Amino acid sequence: MEPLLLDGKKLADELKLEIAAEVATYVAKGQRAPHLAAILVGNDGGSETYVGHKVKACEQVGFQSTMLRFPDTITEAELMAEITKLNNDNTIDGFIVQLPLPKTISADNVILHIDPKKDVDGFHPINVGRVALGIDAYVSATPLGITKILERYNIATEGKNCVVIGRSNIVGRPMSILMSGAGKTGNATVTVCHSKTKNLKEICLQADIIIAALGKPEFLTGDMVKEGAVIIDVGTTRVTDATAKAGWRLKGDVKFAEVAPKASAITPVPGGVGPMTVVSLLLNTLKAYKHAF
Ligand code: NAP
Repeated sequence: MEPLLLDGKKLADELKLEIAAEVATYVAKGQRAPHLAAILVGNDGGSETYVGHKVKACEQVGFQSTMLRFPDTITEAELMAEITKLNNDNTIDGFIVQLPLPKTISADNVILHIDPKKDVDGFHPINVGRVALGIDAYVSATPLGITKILERYNIATEGKNCVVIGRSNIVGRPMSILMSGAGKTGNATVTVCHSKTKNLKEICLQADIIIAALGKPEFLTGDMVKEGAVIIDVGTTRVTDATAKAGWRLKGDVKFAEVAPKASAITPVPGGVGPMTVVSLLLNTLKAYKHAF
């Protein structure tokens, strides 16, 4: 049987229309538009693309956006001073510092310096802690996007066995917390796997839902998945491909051709989790804006 394709691109477009309609009502009342700022340090190609998508998405929904670019020679102290300015700027609702940062700068220090109320990436320990405690917070964008996919496609999570592959602070860890929490798309029994996990295949074969977030192209193969499982593919690795216009293609962590025929529902790459990550950043910025008025 054909699996249900969890179309993140289509869902993101729908959510953008909803956000744009809401923003239009505020602007019609004479309020300023929500405003997202993004700090980009250095010339990392991937980071430039990601920030570009975020700025474009802001334009699509009527947000104001400001991109602040700094050379990779900027010092940690100088970057902190820029963050202080954004923390204190009442015309900016939320901002992000695009990672990775140059090795000379501690990402942990930078994240700690962001005002949690403006931390629309949801990376600050205050927000991470609030998510863990089930208190209203900015949930980091990729896990938030995945919960929106599960919610909008009515994927049942309660009582299900969920395997999350990857335990990073921005994807795997928060995702596992949300899936095991008492929220609408939670109440699952969650196993978190990582590079030291033994018997990963056997663990995956028990899963009703697999969230693959490890960054290893086509890692999850058909023999690791039970019939009817729901598959969320977070991976986005640029793989060299001479036939592609850009010379590379995005590959997920799931071997789609093998896994899709066994799955009941699956996200594609591209067009699955990626577009929902961007729209989740907009949702968090809108949330920050609403706190401001
Ligand atoms: P990360 O920080 O590199 O973390 C990868 C995680 O996977 C680590 O916890 C690692 O375990 C685990 N892992 C690595 N190899 C493994 C293996 N063979 N078996 C089991 N676990 C293994 O990556 P990330 O930032 O979470 O990103 C993961 C992927 O998602 C990447 O492809 C990234 O590009 C993509 N991503 C996509 C979006 C989107 O919007 N679509 C957003 C964010 C990230 P250890 O902890 O033991 O090292």
